[in-house]
Amino acid sequence: MTAKRWFFEEPLTQADPEVARYIAAEESRQRGQIELIAPKNYLSRAAREAMGSIVVFATVEGYPGKRYHAGVENVDGIERLAIERAKAMFAAGHANVQPHSGTQSNQAVYFALLSPGDTVLSMDLSSGGHLSHGLKSNLSGRWFKTISYGTTADGFIDYEAMERLAREHRPKLIIVGGSSYPRAINFPKVSSIAALVGAMTLADVSHFSGLIAAKEYPSPFPYMDVVTTTTNKNLRGPRGGLILTRDAALGRKIDSAVFPGIQGGPLPDVIAAKAVCFGEALKPEFIDYARRVLSCARTLSSGLSARGFKIVTGGTDVPFTMVDLRTRGLKGDIAQKALEAHGVTTNRNLVPQDTESPNVTSGLRIGTSAIAARGMADAEASELAEIIADVLDRLAKNPGQGQEIDSSIAERASALAKKFPLYPT
Ligand SMILES: *Cc1c(COP(=O)(O)O)cnc(C)c1O
Repeated sequence: MTAKRWFFEEPLTQADPEVARYIAAEESRQRGQIELIAPKNYLSRAAREAMGSIVVFATVEGYPGKRYHAGVENVDGIERLAIERAKAMFAAGHANVQPHSGTQSNQAVYFALLSPGDTVLSMDLSSGGHLSHGLKSNLSGRWFKTISYGTTADGFIDYEAMERLAREHRPKLIIVGGSSYPRAINFPKVSSIAALVGAMTLADVSHFSGLIAAKEYPSPFPYMDVVTTTTNKNLRGPRGGLILTRDAALGRKIDSAVFPGIQGGPLPDVIAAKAVCFGEALKPEFIDYARRVLSCARTLSSGLSARGFKIVTGGTDVPFTMVDLRTRGLKGDIAQKALEAHGVTTNRNLVPQDTESPNVTSGLRIGTSAIAARGMADAEASELAEIIADVLDRLAKNPGQGQEIDSSIAERASALAKKFPLYPT
């Protein structure tokens, strides 16, 4: 190879074996493990082709038809497709497909609707809220005043507290949705509380946006003003964000908050992958996917409950189930570790009224978006409930020994992974 051509021709394994080794190891980890971390998911082969495709080299600040650079017609076409498909998926009046992430989507909403110092009413973190809804150390919590509502002792949103706090603090924005709240949100109720005090409403549906697209979860429109979501979780798309609004006037405010408000140029290849993902979500096959996601989450809930584990709210309406480990004398961190050692990845999570720190926690969040993408259904979810219960029972009986691997349990997990392979090699 001539010195000049290496840049366009030398493959990664030759050019940088150190990085290539980590990528290969990560590939084998992902192929061999059962992924039950709620936000994790895969991309279709087609969407993967779009992501990282040559359109990544296009520079396209602005919006379709109003760009600041030349040579943008193909990316304009792609972004228009993504926008139209996103609107169709959620029955929305306007869509912005440019946010780089879920957190940036929420930041853009804050920037569009609020001024620093304004009051926001959102769900507290231990009840399932998200750090971008006003955590002290996040920009949203540093520059805005956050009032939090939570859940009642049984884990359901406390709408009475929401109304009382809204009347008392008169927030400009009320946020619903979060990372670990397992039940359907009553959007009409939230909208009527917001109307009492003239607040705007935001539903952050990151964890169940695929279910909404498939009509397996109540639609936030027409009740909510703005909806944000990550595209990489339950929606089964590339890593990124999406903002939808009820009407076009509000959409124009959101557009200028995303660009030039908080972002420069978008990621054109990720927008292409979003367009492919949204196209998939509009097909009938996606309804089957969403139904399996939900049904697997419910099967895991009932399977674990039958083995004596306490499920937060007693069940689930979303792509994950929340296990409260306190009744078994276990903590989230050691449970997560023991499961990982047996080939099943989950994450420790705070549960309502948790007294442990966020690094320890008393709960586990177990998600089903990725296993359903792999093709698994109720039979496999049942088997996974048994595997999880076997690992945790062993740990509860003997916290020391429980961290060692029981190879017969690990083999059951690895057999499932083999039976439902990822992309062909
Ligand atoms: C994951 C998540 C986000 C943030 O997404 P990032 O892309 O990681 O920034 C925002 N809101 C909710 C509810 C989430 O679950």
